[in-house]
Amino acid sequence: MITKSKTASKQGMLENVMRQFNHAADIINLNSNIRKILSITNNELLIHFPVKMDNGDVEVFTGYRVQHNNALGPYKGGLRYHPTVDIDAAKALAMWMTWKTSLAGLPYGGAKGGIQIDPSKYSTAELERITRRFTYALGDNIGPEHDIPAPDVNTNSQTMAWIVDTYMSTKSPAERSKNQHVVTGKPLGSGGSEGRDRATGYGVFLNIKYWAEKKKVDLKNKRFIVQGFGNVGYWTAYFLENEGAKLVGVQDAYGSITNSDGIEVSKLYQYMQGNKGSIVGYDNAQVVEKDHFFELDCDICIPAALGNQITAENATKIKAFLIAEGANGPTDVEGEEILLKNGVGIIPDILCNSGGVIGSYFEWLQNRNGELWQLEEVLAKLEKKMKEVFEKVYETAENRDGDMRTAAYIIAIERIEKAYVQRGIFP
Ligand code: GLU
Repeated sequence: MITKSKTASKQGMLENVMRQFNHAADIINLNSNIRKILSITNNELLIHFPVKMDNGDVEVFTGYRVQHNNALGPYKGGLRYHPTVDIDAAKALAMWMTWKTSLAGLPYGGAKGGIQIDPSKYSTAELERITRRFTYALGDNIGPEHDIPAPDVNTNSQTMAWIVDTYMSTKSPAERSKNQHVVTGKPLGSGGSEGRDRATGYGVFLNIKYWAEKKKVDLKNKRFIVQGFGNVGYWTAYFLENEGAKLVGVQDAYGSITNSDGIEVSKLYQYMQGNKGSIVGYDNAQVVEKDHFFELDCDICIPAALGNQITAENATKIKAFLIAEGANGPTDVEGEEILLKNGVGIIPDILCNSGGVIGSYFEWLQNRNGELWQLEEVLAKLEKKMKEVFEKVYETAENRDGDMRTAAYIIAIERIEKAYVQRGIFP
């Protein structure tokens, strides 16, 4: 049993996902044997590996890959490069992937991993060697039909290109080309798919749009804030702005800014590119103190960075009427209770940011079948899928007179339960 931790740390994430899971499992009276299986991860890999730095010294890094469950198909989930990555964080994030892929109706299980590292402290050449050596150490613990990584916090299509190249290089010449789908989120030209770059943000945007339609809210001129201006935050802001909404606050790892008249998404993005990836110092905005970011006056709040950001400490001060979870686990259980009591809508992570893994699935299918889809085709397919899943969650929440997170968990868990009930447990 997981005990409650006092600090909102990575251990908090594991506690959080377990409490969310148990809450839904209680409601549906989940088969107790299946609850036992899903409460624990299938495999946990912890790897120490040495890498030569640019100055000739050797540093030893710690990498993780946790495979939570594969009842529905190969393990699937991102690799994160961040100082907070540890075994508990990887376990929590792997569990969220299991619920996410199940909810989306994909033929995948859930996994997550990464390296405990602050990538801003390393050169590109060092990051390449770190990534390649980690991939080599993972060996056949990953594989195109077994466990398929993807980008996550501080990793991108370049990281995936290094992984696929390293993985394929370890195979015999005749086998090499059969392994391109060992990772998704690759660059275009290296087996990547059109639209995968924007898939998560587009999915977050679509979820907000569908929610607004249900609530008869016009997104035009609605003010939104984004925590995290990486792949998810940027693309979500891009699509929301396109719809007529106004970006009024952004926070990244280095600082927070606001402008109630609006911040132009493309201008901020351009500024960030020339500013070592940081929004700090953008001149058409005022500085906000880190701890007061979520209190900014706005209509929609999009946490798109790390876990445990909205807690009992700041939930009471949130002015937004909707939280759209671009990140995994950004709201903890206590924070959510307060928000729900205050009538704030929450589109839960396993629904809200699932556009990413749905986009990954499309890339994987194209690689497997030797197909190349056009951008419009990918986005249309993503839209169709996202709408289907959103409707299912929304309806389940309405029918059960409950919140959307619990509804999403119920759908996700019941699909896995069905697979176990049909197959039984070996031997
Ligand atoms: N890292 C993303 C997530 O948390 C994408 C995972 C994937 O595409 O496998 O959903």
